[in-house]
Amino acid sequence: MEKRIDHLILGGGIAGVTAAETLRELSGATIAIVTEDPNPLYSRVRLPDYLLDKIPREKVFIKDFKWYQEKEIDYITETSIKEISVSEKRVLLENGKAIHFKKLLISTGGIARFPEPLPKRLEGIHLFRTIEDADRIREGFKKSKRAVVLGGGYIGLELVRCAIQKGIDCSLVLMDRQFWPGILDEPSSKLIEKELIEKGLRIVFGAQIKEVKGKTRIEEVLLTSGKKCEADFLGVGAGIQTLQPFLESSGIKTGKGIVTDEFLNTGHPDIFAAGDVAEFFDLRQKRHQQLGNWVNAQEQGKTAALNMSGEPKVFDFISNYAIRVFGVSVGFIGDIRRIEGTQVIQRGSPREGVSQLFIREGEVKGAALVNRPHEMRPLLGMIKNRAKVHADDPNLSDSAFDLETLI
Ligand SMILES: Cc1cc2nc3c(=O)[nH]c(=O)nc-3n(C[C@H](O)[C@H](O)[C@H](O)COP(=O)(O)OP(=O)(O)OC[C@H]3O[C@@H](n4cnc5c(N)ncnc54)[C@H](O)[C@@H]3O)c2cc1C
Repeated sequence: MEKRIDHLILGGGIAGVTAAETLRELSGATIAIVTEDPNPLYSRVRLPDYLLDKIPREKVFIKDFKWYQEKEIDYITETSIKEISVSEKRVLLENGKAIHFKKLLISTGGIARFPEPLPKRLEGIHLFRTIEDADRIREGFKKSKRAVVLGGGYIGLELVRCAIQKGIDCSLVLMDRQFWPGILDEPSSKLIEKELIEKGLRIVFGAQIKEVKGKTRIEEVLLTSGKKCEADFLGVGAGIQTLQPFLESSGIKTGKGIVTDEFLNTGHPDIFAAGDVAEFFDLRQKRHQQLGNWVNAQEQGKTAALNMSGEPKVFDFISNYAIRVFGVSVGFIGDIRRIEGTQVIQRGSPREGVSQLFIREGEVKGAALVNRPHEMRPLLGMIKNRAKVHADDPNLSDSAFDLETLI
């Protein structure tokens, strides 16, 4: 007999588990989560602290297996999705079993990308997405003297920070000519660069990896710039892949991720998507977008659950992200595109920190902050309340002016 479940959730990350928890609060319906992961829910956000021995492995976990039992959530681990039949409302698993659903949530997140020129079999190449990756990185760090890290985004910078703190000689390779081009201006990027160089990092801008050499372990990395870096550890921060084969045959609409409306619905009335995999309609930015963000995934899990249980709720969230690279804090809020009609107003200076305000249609739509973390809160408030501003108001560019008064 095939299983029949009221609310079937694919993926047991923060989006899927939050959806299950919310659904349980709402009703006694049957709930199942199918996930490839062998673990109960853990925090990817805490993984860098685990790498640095700031917390023990068990502190990375948010739930234990008992929690799922107590909540009567059928938690099916180490199981992959093979196919979704939308017309039959049925999910086929790789182990040959099938589950029928009334409502389905797809929250399968993403898999760390492994760029093409890298050899799969060489020891010492590390992705950073799961707790098992973190276990391997910890072991890799113990044996490493020279590391190369690929990618200047969040994961690349976390790997660099951890490697340097472990006393490993480290080089960072970035495809771009600066950090976060198109969002940060050059002086703001230079602030991050200066801090990292002071900590002993070598940075190669405008290059990619051409070849990795070694017999069984990595020994040398050749860059497209012609430079050669000796290395026994290669950390890869090349983004995530969210589209998986099981989506291809399903007929569910995909773009960069699973395309949804503002209710996180896929267009099939009983199928929803949430978290990193969802390319949702952002009501504020009036466009589809996909975020790789913990709080976004958590909030989408909640919203999807309400919609699955028949309580219509739009997803209205202002994305925000913060990272600290040694002494430099970087924060991004809302819509940080320099599209037509956007005026970018700068507050502060490299010495006191720089906030860039992205203004359009008489409102702050987004902001990028370097070393001005205290402005995160007021700017979030201004964006949320759609506070009216004039781009030529001198207060906006006066770093001493308190933005709280504009909320
Ligand atoms: C090291 C690290 C640090 C981070 N730090 C931050 C931070 O400081 N702040 C922040 O906002 N964000 C951070 N993030 C990003 C954040 O963790 C993600 O945005 C968030 O975890 C996404 O949650 P999710 O539930 O959508 O997906 P995921 O966490 O990826 O969960 C997806 C689940 O689906 C399962 N799955 C995938 N494919 C299948 C399949 N085919 N069959 C069955 N199951 C499947 C997976 O096993 C997994 O359990 C960090 C990420 C990493 C890796």
